[in-house]
Amino acid sequence: MSYSPSWDLLVFGGTILTMEPGTAPIVNGALAIADGRIAAVGPAEELVEQAPTGEVLDAAGCLIIPGLVNTHSHLAMTLLRGLADDLPLKSWLEQHIWPAEREHMNRESVRVGTRLAVAEQLLAGITTTTDMYFFDDEVGKVLAEAGMRGVVAESLLDFQTPRCSGPNEMLERQRELLEAFHDHPLITPAVAPHAPYTVSAANLVHEAELADEFDAPLHIHLAETRWEVQKLLEEKGMSPVAYLADLGVLSEHTVAAHCVHVSPEDIEVLADLEVGVSHNPVSNLKLGSGIAPVPAMIAAGVKLGLGTDGAASNNTLDLLRDAQLAALLHKGVGGDPTALPAKQTIELVTAGGARVLGLDDRIGMLREGYEADLVCLQVTAPHTTPLYDPYSHLAYAARAADVLHVLVRGRAVVRDRQLTTLDLEEIRAQVKEVTDKIRGG
Ligand SMILES: [Zn+2]
Repeated sequence: MSYSPSWDLLVFGGTILTMEPGTAPIVNGALAIADGRIAAVGPAEELVEQAPTGEVLDAAGCLIIPGLVNTHSHLAMTLLRGLADDLPLKSWLEQHIWPAEREHMNRESVRVGTRLAVAEQLLAGITTTTDMYFFDDEVGKVLAEAGMRGVVAESLLDFQTPRCSGPNEMLERQRELLEAFHDHPLITPAVAPHAPYTVSAANLVHEAELADEFDAPLHIHLAETRWEVQKLLEEKGMSPVAYLADLGVLSEHTVAAHCVHVSPEDIEVLADLEVGVSHNPVSNLKLGSGIAPVPAMIAAGVKLGLGTDGAASNNTLDLLRDAQLAALLHKGVGGDPTALPAKQTIELVTAGGARVLGLDDRIGMLREGYEADLVCLQVTAPHTTPLYDPYSHLAYAARAADVLHVLVRGRAVVRDRQLTTLDLEEIRAQVKEVTDKIRGG
């Protein structure tokens, strides 16, 4: 721990879970922040003694944890929340979601929907999110303005999107995004070919080359449904994972969402190529897609994080709730109560998510030198009393509404359960304007 007279902020009084392997919870701990980074972590009495010059944030009665990392989402789809439920993925997409997007998604509505998603996620303790959508230069801007961290990518499909007439134009927009947000402190630009069944082999290879050129993440949906596996087997003679590996698309920069229908051989490939997998249990359940073999992937050493997916297939962006569901789901399905224990579950939505997104050199743990992205979650309510094991509460008892303060790069974006960078009333009014049109058809 180094003495610093120029701390900007001292968060103190709560129990710190650093999520650094091998470290114990620090009861009555404190965390000093300077220039958006963690300058010191330790017992409160030691840090307070050093008489910091900055502001003080009281976290008594809280668990202080790294900010949650949402590894897969389509942010502006908050505007389509509850528009079409209880349908299989293919008809849900083709008959409801894609027509609504074609008609109603434009730069302005994406801006509005993304602001709603940012508000929802920050209040739920998510400090880093992902977006695979359209007008992602606007998405990057919205996140940066609100002070939220994100990995954002313009989608590429072989057909028209609300923004682009075809894949060549999408590649151009992606390149512009990669250049515009290069070295941005909060925004990591990425490329996002939609899925192996919506993007041609040639375009998948173009995408891998573009990601390589910029050393950027490549975000893709993979092996989400049985239908997709069947289609690839029929057309390419390979599973979706084997097909992408064969094209050279999979690497340590890949963020593969879903991986529900993967064989033991596929899992080996994902582990060998160090592909990051985003597990989206709620979306997979709701669309009836199935249940990803998470314990098998963990056993094989696959990099794993959790994602909410878009709000049209979840229908909230509440990653803590989804983590809690994952912890229960894999126990029940595998008939194994030791699957996904509490600490490992919380690891998936913090350090694990950071690893999946390639940001584990700066976020996902509370350690000196890392960016100060953290959540103070209050554990004084009846449903979190008494407290024996903080990980247990996070995995089984706490709720998003228990989130008290949220910091990203040392900036309090939520303070005493209030957003400091976004006006919720204004967002609600803007959402109403767009959704009135969607309701009208
Ligand atoms: Zn998705």
